[in-house]
Amino acid sequence: LPYIMTRPIQATIDLAAIRQNYLLAKRLAPNSFAFAVIKADAYGHGYLRVAQALAPVADGYGLINIENALAMREAGITQPILLLEGCFDREEVDVAVANGLWVPVHSAFQLDWLRALPAAGRPLDVFIKINTGMNRLGFRPEQAADVLARLRQLPQVKVRGLMTHFATADDDEGIEPQLLRFDAVNARLDLPCCVANSAATLRYDVARREYVRPGIMLYGASPFADQSAEQLGLAPTMKLEAEIIGVQELQPGDRVGYGARFTASQPMRIGVVACGYADGYPRIARAGTPCVVDGVRTRLVGRVSMDMLTIDLDPVPQAGVGSKVTLWGGDGLSIDEVAAGADTIGYELMCALAARVPVVVV
Ligand code: PLP
Repeated sequence: LPYIMTRPIQATIDLAAIRQNYLLAKRLAPNSFAFAVIKADAYGHGYLRVAQALAPVADGYGLINIENALAMREAGITQPILLLEGCFDREEVDVAVANGLWVPVHSAFQLDWLRALPAAGRPLDVFIKINTGMNRLGFRPEQAADVLARLRQLPQVKVRGLMTHFATADDDEGIEPQLLRFDAVNARLDLPCCVANSAATLRYDVARREYVRPGIMLYGASPFADQSAEQLGLAPTMKLEAEIIGVQELQPGDRVGYGARFTASQPMRIGVVACGYADGYPRIARAGTPCVVDGVRTRLVGRVSMDMLTIDLDPVPQAGVGSKVTLWGGDGLSIDEVAAGADTIGYELMCALAARVPVVVV
């Protein structure tokens, strides 16, 4: 039997909005080479379609999985692609050389791999990654000069620059302590710099160096708790919508959903929506998390189930079975607001959009 998709849920991916958000990064950092970060399947938007949509404007791309970079090359994308976490094994280095991928070097074991490359071959473009305080990947600042000296002895390597990643670019602590450490290192090395994620690109002109690496801002979400995407001039890029598939008329004392977490205090109508945690809607979302029905804001009540969630229809008396519910990314409802209802960030909701949700690309 042919598979007929009739369950009323849909995600809409807006590629023009992604391009517009990338161009905002370019306007903020007009002198920087901007790697469009498309890791994690372009934060759930589909990395290949995003890469192709950005191809006319993107300086380069950043991602994690080397197989994604190869698929982009096969699709005819020629810009530099930076493997944000570097190569995971020796074989990947050969693949990176053969496909012109750019590679951060963050640990001594990777220097051994580079030394083993044939001296006569095409050179590999590398960044030296410095750990300035995040304590994730990177050499310690005092190792940087030695690493550069070693790389400069290798004709098979071309050092493109120095990079680091900020732990607190999105909050009150800001980037200063890490940037001071970084600049102290680079005062001696004098390399082109690549430090800014979206938060730093948006907020700190001192971070807009030779290269920037915006991710979340391309997808129309804010990295900041105190500034909305709209205030930042970002356009939403992923809309999640579903329909009401059932209505319940509750009497005072009636309860809703698993764990009977919600009790009606007065007569009310509940809409049952065709979206659950198996679609990527966070199960942990609190009652009160906003959604929009027929242009009217209302709220989640009760626990999110695997395939359904329940909402308060009192603010929308005309709504019923078949009414469209915007769960995020449209009708003025930002993904960040919904993420806040689930004590998380827009990044996580986007990345968690489930494969079973039909996607429409506009
Ligand atoms: N650069 C690196 C090394 C990253 O790990 C990330 C994502 O976490 C980014 C850039 C993009 O960050 P954001 O999505 O916050 O702009």
